[in-house]
Amino acid sequence: MTNRRRPVSQALLDRAIKVDAALHAAFPGAKCSLDYANPLQLLIATILSAQCTDARVNMVTPALFARYKTAAEFAGADCAELEALVQSTGFYRNKAKSIREACKDIAVLHGGEVPKNLEELYQLHGVGRKTANVVLGNAFGIPGMVVDTHVGRIARRLGLTKNADPVKVEQDLMRLFPDMRWTTLGHEMILLGRKYCKAPTPKCAGCPLIELCPFTKKVL
Ligand code: SF4
Repeated sequence: MTNRRRPVSQALLDRAIKVDAALHAAFPGAKCSLDYANPLQLLIATILSAQCTDARVNMVTPALFARYKTAAEFAGADCAELEALVQSTGFYRNKAKSIREACKDIAVLHGGEVPKNLEELYQLHGVGRKTANVVLGNAFGIPGMVVDTHVGRIARRLGLTKNADPVKVEQDLMRLFPDMRWTTLGHEMILLGRKYCKAPTPKCAGCPLIELCPFTKKVL
């Protein structure tokens, strides 16, 4: 894709380098907190994590993954049974539908294997860009910049983007940070969002990025 957007200023690149270092120092070892044993399980766990805590998803998936093992099995699952198994994660009808549709695509179009690139992952029914990047980065080790509500909010507060559209935020962050950092950076920003940079009011006191953050001046 041709990038016709304005070049990034050196000042912004310098700040991104400092943000990168501060996040890495503040959250060493940050990683995906969903439990999974293979790419298919991570894809399904990520679908279930929408509007739900990872801890809750991890309580639900052991029984789910014991009941269905392959994409074909998920695709052919009885609707009511699948819904009952994922009910406690919320929005369970939509999530069960997304799981069945994505797994049908994987079984029919990809021989039962989760595809290893963003375009094909994103084209699976029921799979959004965030889920595609989570799977890419964590299950396959291919850099993926995950932009969820935490990452988008923090990127805007830190002045790393002015965009609200997650795809544009993703592109802005990909221009500012090296690809080898994208996956872990997403985890670190999510941890920052959970601990300090909350919505609607951040807890700036104690935030490891306070010296770098233009938003904190407005808050304080
Ligand atoms: S200083 Fe405040 S607004 Fe800035 S990143 Fe930290 S918590 Fe968020």
